[in-house]
Amino acid sequence: MTTRAISAAEASEQILASIERMPVERVPLASSLGAVLAETIVARISVPPWRSSSMDGFAVRSTDISALPRTLRVVGEIAAGGTSPVEIAEGEAIKIMTGAPVPAGADTVVRVEDTDAGATSVEIRNHRDARRNVRPLGEDFREGDVLLNAGDRITPAAIGVLASAGVSTVSTFRPPTVSIVASGDELVRIDNFAAVMQGERIVSSNSYSLPALVRDAGGLPHDGGITRDNPSSLRDAINGAMACDLLITSGGVSVGERDFTRSVMRDIGADIKFWRARIRPGGPIVFGIVDGRPWIGLPGNPVSALVTFELFVRPAILKMRGETLLFPVPQLVTLEERVAVSGDLTHYLRVVVTQSDDGPRARLTGTQSSGALTSMLRANALLIVPEGRREYERGEKLRALPLQNSILRSAIFPS
Ligand code: AMP
Ligand code: MG
Repeated sequence: MTTRAISAAEASEQILASIERMPVERVPLASSLGAVLAETIVARISVPPWRSSSMDGFAVRSTDISALPRTLRVVGEIAAGGTSPVEIAEGEAIKIMTGAPVPAGADTVVRVEDTDAGATSVEIRNHRDARRNVRPLGEDFREGDVLLNAGDRITPAAIGVLASAGVSTVSTFRPPTVSIVASGDELVRIDNFAAVMQGERIVSSNSYSLPALVRDAGGLPHDGGITRDNPSSLRDAINGAMACDLLITSGGVSVGERDFTRSVMRDIGADIKFWRARIRPGGPIVFGIVDGRPWIGLPGNPVSALVTFELFVRPAILKMRGETLLFPVPQLVTLEERVAVSGDLTHYLRVVVTQSDDGPRARLTGTQSSGALTSMLRANALLIVPEGRREYERGEKLRALPLQNSILRSAIFPS
């Protein structure tokens, strides 16, 4: 085990080196949103499967409408879903709807607005649609085209394309199950709020926020409960939570006398890979392998737990799900206020990033105590203050990690 505190990048590297993609499962297309494909999908058909009209109007031969106005004989009608009758001959037109197959012989659909819409004969009044409004067979994709590659994430558009190609189930990486065990003598569930009202306990907010984050990252959370700060109940809880692909503990990883998580994990047989990273919040994070599965021990402070989740757990879950783009892209932001930190650590400060004409700007969400979860509530990004320099003036630039794309959204319709 590494005993020195390591950098955030090293911590991430060590965790991800021990994380493997989940096995593959086949799921119905309709429930595959957000999953990563484990197969390459090749089109079995061409779409559209016929030359189709992109207008309501009259299918004609362009050579028939070079001199205008011109009256053509209407020899039939084809609706979307209808079949294309015989080839049209010189001097003929067929009434046609958008999406309907264009009959052989026709290379043009004249929009209805450019005609007198006649039923037995039709007068064509405009030449602008000559050789237009006919979508070629396979305009969208052709039989044999690669529609999606293994490793692509299934988006709503992918679901639409696969549906039109007749793909009803897809092979994807299974979502990991993630057990979460919280520890602390002071912690209760919400249904025991009376104890909080009496001033004796606090709610284990991590027991609620962490499962929400797991779900948000595409994992399946399993509540491993809240355990007391004593080795035997901690051991029981952890053993009971072991049926998972990733084990998360919250609390008890610092240097307090009642911080038993690491020693209990070691007793259970965990191979601890590192303990402590040079970050704030979240310094006491620990990582190991227990019984073949990764274990990430998050500090109990609610902000530390959430920040370390973003830095280390979310990328791990994404990797298990088969993703390759595991990290948010830091955005350069201008500080709206002076920022000062202490200690030789990389700080992740909770900020609100807003867009301005001079680019994104960041202001702190208020107190940066790792106990103040509301600092996280109001934040849409984490300002990275790298190890080294401790003070930054208003107007200077730093980088910020967006939380869930929120800094790229606006209340104003874009123009
Ligand atoms: P620990 O990491 O156990 O030393 O806890 C650090 C701080 O976080 C203490 O103030 C705890 O009361 C608080 N804390 C620990 N676990 C939780 C939790 N599950 N939910 C909310 N606060 C917690
Ligand atoms: Mg504790």
